[in-house]
Amino acid sequence: MSEITLGIIGGGQLGSMLAIAAKKLNVKTVVFCDDIDAPAQNFCNQFVTGSYDNKEKISEFINQVDLVTYEFENIPYETLNEINKFKPVLPKPSVNRLIQHRLAEKDFVNKLNIRTTRYVSIEKKSDIDALEDFLPGILKTTTLGYDGKGQYPIKSSEDLNSLNIDFSKGYILEKLVKLKKEISIIITRFSNNKYEIYEPIENTHEDQILKYSKIPAEINKKIFNQSKDWAMLIAEELKYVGTLCVEFFIDRNDNLYVNEIAPRVHNSGHLTINAFNVSQFENHIRAVCGLEQIPLKKISNAKMMNLLGDQITHYRNMQKFNENEFFFDYLKKDIKEKRKMGHITTLV
Ligand code: ADP
Ligand code: MG
Repeated sequence: MSEITLGIIGGGQLGSMLAIAAKKLNVKTVVFCDDIDAPAQNFCNQFVTGSYDNKEKISEFINQVDLVTYEFENIPYETLNEINKFKPVLPKPSVNRLIQHRLAEKDFVNKLNIRTTRYVSIEKKSDIDALEDFLPGILKTTTLGYDGKGQYPIKSSEDLNSLNIDFSKGYILEKLVKLKKEISIIITRFSNNKYEIYEPIENTHEDQILKYSKIPAEINKKIFNQSKDWAMLIAEELKYVGTLCVEFFIDRNDNLYVNEIAPRVHNSGHLTINAFNVSQFENHIRAVCGLEQIPLKKISNAKMMNLLGDQITHYRNMQKFNENEFFFDYLKKDIKEKRKMGHITTLV
């Protein structure tokens, strides 16, 4: 029986699912979150609340754990780096710093000869005037974006006048890809050349928010292999430990692009809980805690639907689900429009 206590920064649904997976492996968990209502407190052994730069609260947290991981990437680098002086942080803080910055992330991916969308750094409004080539495009904040937040579709440079954009933050302008499909690869790296990699997952977004995921993805063999190869190359290059997700675009000519990397477990991998012998969450815990690696086996094809905002209510009121349906309620205190409240996975 393991005697490990794992610290998890972030207490949303991903933190909850990590804590549930840890419990199954007899790993104790302490969740640290800036939200006093964080849902993961329902599933962990200890809960500490405080802002992500509160030194006192952070030392209270690290005193209780053997090592630390995180459920989201927007944690100040200084915080992770400071924690790492006392207890190991996995994935490494430097990985998080690289990936939380869209420009640095895309430069890194391109250096590996992996295709990304075309992009350019934007520091002031007039930078866009000379960039007709990148239009239509999407202007994105270089840091702190998620679920389409901090993103502005731009058709022409005039569009900027109607948008009230705060140029004290850094931006990246990305050429719009004519999307045929989006897929993701979830991979857990244990150590040099030791991986568990899930098959490509096909994702459908609505208003830039993930709505549906399914396996198998309806893609050709070339994209199937290339997406896996690229995810492995990225994980290896980062010397990554834990579960990582690579999001991809496929354009109408069947070209594959890396959209972004998430240095963590990912929403598109929720279906791995029911569709595989080992979920992305369990694999993450196994990798960061140095537990046994178990060969991945698929149990079933599956589809997952995110329940956003008040879509959860109908499911909360359901008395009974079919045997092949698995409903997850994240137990978030308030229902907010477009907030991820739960999901339902159906084995098919
Ligand atoms: P987030 O960090 O919010 O997940 P993404 O960059 O992944 O941001 O964008 C969210 C979604 O918006 C993507 O999954 C895709 O559907 C759409 N999108 C973003 N950038 C582009 C692009 N350059 N071309 C086409 N669609 C895009
Ligand atoms: Mg994304």
